[in-house]
Amino acid sequence: MVSQSDNDVSEKLKALRRKFLDRARNDIRELSAYAEQTRSGTLSAEGLIRCYQSLHRLAGSAGTFGLPELGQEARSLEKKLKSQAEKLGAASVMPQQSIEIADDFADGIDALAELVEVNAEKSAVVPETTVSTEQHRINGSHGMQVRILLVDTDRDGSVGSLSSELARYGFVCQCVYEQDEKALQDAVFASNGAVSILCRDTALASIIPRVKSWRGTGPGHRLPVVAVGNDDSFDNNYRVAKAGASAYFARPIDVPELAERIESLAMERSAGVNGRVLIVEDDAELAEHYCLVLRAAGIEARSLTEPERLMPELSVFRPDIILMDVQIGDFSGVTLARLIRFESRWLSLPIIYLSSEDNRDDQLEALSKGADEFLVKPVSDDYLVRSVRIRCYRARQLSDLMNRDSLTGLLKHSLIKQELEKELARCRRLGHYSSVVMIDLDYFKQVNDTWGHRYGDIVIRALANLLRNRLRETDMIGRYGGEEFMLVLPDCSVQAAAKLVRAIGESFSQLTFSVGEKSFHVTLSAGVAGINDFETGEAALEAADRALYRRKRGGRAGVTIHDAKQ
Ligand code: GH3
Ligand code: MG
Ligand code: MG
Ligand code: MG
Repeated sequence: MVSQSDNDVSEKLKALRRKFLDRARNDIRELSAYAEQTRSGTLSAEGLIRCYQSLHRLAGSAGTFGLPELGQEARSLEKKLKSQAEKLGAASVMPQQSIEIADDFADGIDALAELVEVNAEKSAVVPETTVSTEQHRINGSHGMQVRILLVDTDRDGSVGSLSSELARYGFVCQCVYEQDEKALQDAVFASNGAVSILCRDTALASIIPRVKSWRGTGPGHRLPVVAVGNDDSFDNNYRVAKAGASAYFARPIDVPELAERIESLAMERSAGVNGRVLIVEDDAELAEHYCLVLRAAGIEARSLTEPERLMPELSVFRPDIILMDVQIGDFSGVTLARLIRFESRWLSLPIIYLSSEDNRDDQLEALSKGADEFLVKPVSDDYLVRSVRIRCYRARQLSDLMNRDSLTGLLKHSLIKQELEKELARCRRLGHYSSVVMIDLDYFKQVNDTWGHRYGDIVIRALANLLRNRLRETDMIGRYGGEEFMLVLPDCSVQAAAKLVRAIGESFSQLTFSVGEKSFHVTLSAGVAGINDFETGEAALEAADRALYRRKRGGRAGVTIHDAKQ
């Protein structure tokens, strides 16, 4: 199925390739003129450096635009000039002084011209990008609900019966019968948002191969399949794992644990797919080509051709990684990398060099100055997407480790407070109205005392998951302390915030936590305050906390809005 946006991308890639070919022909015409000068012994030092730069640029970009032989030939000619060009750069040679070049250099340049024409004809069409151009906007849970497809094999509906309980955690549940091929296929494809399949262990062998054949196996295509069954023996667990399930729950099913696993599988998937990349590259066509290819694969990409704009761009875009050309006009990528590290908040930002430098020593030198890795040009589209995706994933994992609470995956105390201050600044700038919410679980000491700390933890995680499922992507959720949560809700009045949190509180109170034969429920209290009504975020937070305290005294299990008169 080819969508409109696929067509757009491939049209744009074709247009870029035409632009590249025009540029390459121009460059080669200029190179040929210099080649004539080498034959007549009149090539100047300046001319040699121009040749060197021009060949370097061709070597780095031709492969990406479908002319790998041209790139390789340019690279080998570039190498012939390298030592002389470097010597000329260091010594103060008169720019007009004439230079000796080996005879075969000029012949090499002539060969380049032929390579362009032959290849431009041969593959007038852009080599199909091997990356899928499907937009994988799987934003995971927070802001986009996680869908669960409950697949029943027999009409007893043993899997489907879990749907009402799972729905209380904020999942959107849809029940289908395994035999109903069309309904199953439609449900698998109606995948706006993250989807997990839940089915009987005995049905895995029939379901997994079908889903694979429908969706393919590429990154972002696989759906996590969670199995439930009756047999918890090692043999059965092994069978389930071999069939390709991501998790297995034997009866009696621990629903909070099941909900949490589905949530984390959805998050893992979304983390692997999304990412933000800033490309710093002076070759405008190449930069645009990288951007198009990455965006088509669902990665947010921006390019920057003028390094002067680098620092403001970083603050606004906040990329997960930077792809940095080694030479950007007159600027050195190595020096720019060092400059980025001047700001402490970018100390851990991964910088990956996009270089045509296959010289190991130069790479080591660059690494010691603050870059993390190299991608050697030309980079194929597929390789680019795969390496960027995995690096974004790792970068996010690392920053999550530093910024997120390990029990709930929510923002840590100091970070959510920073978000509050930032939101206050945004309110003033943009003129919208935002709210802050403090949530505290009711009688939580009793939960721990009665059921044990482990169950207390399960309750805390259940609320974290529920909040992620029910709030918008722009809302910020933090674990303020033990069993206290803090929300920053942009562009949301106190009334709207109270209504939303009241509804979440009701769903939460309906969650059943089972311990063997017994079970229990927990309620929450919350206080809401308008961020705009205060001079500082801290003052707004104190107001929300006072409202929470009033709710606690007024009988808990509900939401109170801050009232300045009280
Ligand atoms: P109230 O309704 O007035 O809030 O009563 P409460 O019992 O919830 O009182 P309080 O908020 O003062 O108690 C919080 C308890 O939460 C104390 C602590 O043992 C427990 N707690 C804090 N962090 C964690 C955690 O990470 N895991 C578990 N299981 N318990 C925690
Ligand atoms: Mg460059
Ligand atoms: Mg408390
Ligand atoms: Mg409490």
